Amino acid sequence: METQDIQLPSSEEQQAIRDAVQKLCSDYPDKYWRDIDGKGAYPQAFVDSLTESGYLAVLIPEEYGGSGLGITEASIILEEINRSGGNSGACHAQMYTMGTLLRHGSEEQKQRFLPLLASGDLRLQAFGVTEPNAGSETTRISTRAQRRGDKYIVNGQKIFISRVEHSDLMLLLARTTPYEELENKTQGLSVFILDMRDVQGNLEVRPLDMMVNHHTCALFFDDVEIPAENLIGEEGMGFRYIIDGWNAERILVAAEAIGDGRWFTDKSARYASERVVFDAPIGANQGVQFPISKAYAQIEAADLMRFHAAAKFDRQEKCGAEANMAKYLASEASWEAANACMVTHGGYAFATDYDVERKFRETRLLSIAPVSNNMILAFLGQKVLGMPRSY
Ligand SMILES: Cc1cc2nc3c(=O)[nH]c(=O)nc-3n(C[C@H](O)[C@H](O)[C@H](O)COP(=O)(O)OP(=O)(O)OC[C@H]3O[C@@H](n4cnc5c(N)ncnc54)[C@H](O)[C@@H]3O)c2cc1C
Repeated sequence: METQDIQLPSSEEQQAIRDAVQKLCSDYPDKYWRDIDGKGAYPQAFVDSLTESGYLAVLIPEEYGGSGLGITEASIILEEINRSGGNSGACHAQMYTMGTLLRHGSEEQKQRFLPLLASGDLRLQAFGVTEPNAGSETTRISTRAQRRGDKYIVNGQKIFISRVEHSDLMLLLARTTPYEELENKTQGLSVFILDMRDVQGNLEVRPLDMMVNHHTCALFFDDVEIPAENLIGEEGMGFRYIIDGWNAERILVAAEAIGDGRWFTDKSARYASERVVFDAPIGANQGVQFPISKAYAQIEAADLMRFHAAAKFDRQEKCGAEANMAKYLASEASWEAANACMVTHGGYAFATDYDVERKFRETRLLSIAPVSNNMILAFLGQKVLGMPRSY
C-alpha cells in the first residue's frame, strides 16, 4: 500500500522529471544504499547515473550545457532521491552552490566552469564555510585569503566540510579583511572557486568519523594558492553572495526532508498494516496509527510551503520567510515521521536490514545542517516578526 500525496499543481515537465528520477532510483534500491552506508563508501555509480542523465545540471542555463530549470525542478529531483530510500547528501552541493556562481560569477568563470560541470567532467560538490571557532556565526570565520600579486594565499581551518574527496572544486568562503578592521562586520569575506586538483600537499583533508555517511572532513590550509581570477564577484562581498544562496539551499533541504518523510510514512503504514501482534495488525491500534497520520499531515503541509517558496524563488520574488519556514517545517515533519517509523517497527527498527535506523540518522541531520533550526527560528523571530536580536 502506498500513501496518497495531496496532488499539487505540477506541470507535465515536472511530473516527467519526477517519474524519470523515480525510474533511475529504482536501479539503486535500499540494499545499494545500505551497503554503501555500511562500508562508509561513496555512491559513485548512483552519482554517475544522475550526472549522465543531466539531473545534477538542471540549474545550469542551457547556453552552458544544462537544462536551465528552476529550484522547483531541482527540489523535485532531491525529494525523489530521498523518497526512494537514497541519500541526496551524496551530491546535493552542486545545486546548493550553483546560485552563487550563476548570480555573481563573471562571464569568463561561467564559460570556464559551467559546461564542464554540466557534462560531469568537473564536480562541484564541496562547500567550505563552517569553522571550529565561528560555528553558526559565519561573519566570524578566520580562514584568511591574502592577495599576493595575481594570487590569493589561504591559511586556516574548516570543519565538517562534506564530499571534499569526491569533488574537484570547492566553493570556499574566506576572510580577506581582518574582522577588527571592518566597520560593516558582514563585509570582509570573499568567495572563491578552489580547484583542489591544483593544491597538492598544501591542503590537508582529514576525514571525520560521523553519524551519517557524508564524507565529512576537517580541512587545514597551509599557503594554499588560488588564482585571483577564481575570486567570485567583488572582494569583501562574499557573505552577501552566500546569503543569497541560502534561500535556494533551504528549499532544497526542505524537499529532501519531504522525500525522507514520505519514505518513512509509506514504510510505517505498510508495516503497521502487515505486522500482527495480539491477533490484530499493530496499525489498528491508535497509539501506533495516529503518530503516522500526524506525521503524514505535517509532511503534506510542509510540502505546500516548500512549493510556495520554490515558486516565489523561481519568479525571483523575495522568499526568505517562506524558504526558512519550508526548511523548518519539513525537517521537523520528517523527524516526526522518523520517530513514528521507529516506534512502528519496534525492535526491527534497529536492524540495519530494515533501513529505518539509516534513514533515521540521515533525516536527523536536516534539522541541524546545513543550518540549525534554532537559527531559522531566530531569523523568523527577528527578521520577519521584528523581535529583538539574540546575537
Ligand atoms: C554531517 C555534516 C555535514 C556538514 N557539511 C558541511 C559542509 O559541507 N560545509 C559546511 O560549511 N558546513 C557543513 N556542516 C556544518 C554545519 O553547517 C554546522 O554544523 C551547522 O551550521 C551548525 O554549526 P555548529 O556545528 O558550529 O554549531 P554551533 O554554532 O556551535 O551551535 C550549536 C547549537 O547552538 C545553537 N545556537 C547557537 N547560537 C544560537 C543563538 N543565538 N540562538 C539560539 N541557538 C543558538 C545552534 O543553533 C546549534 O543548535 C556539516 C555538518 C554536519 C553535521
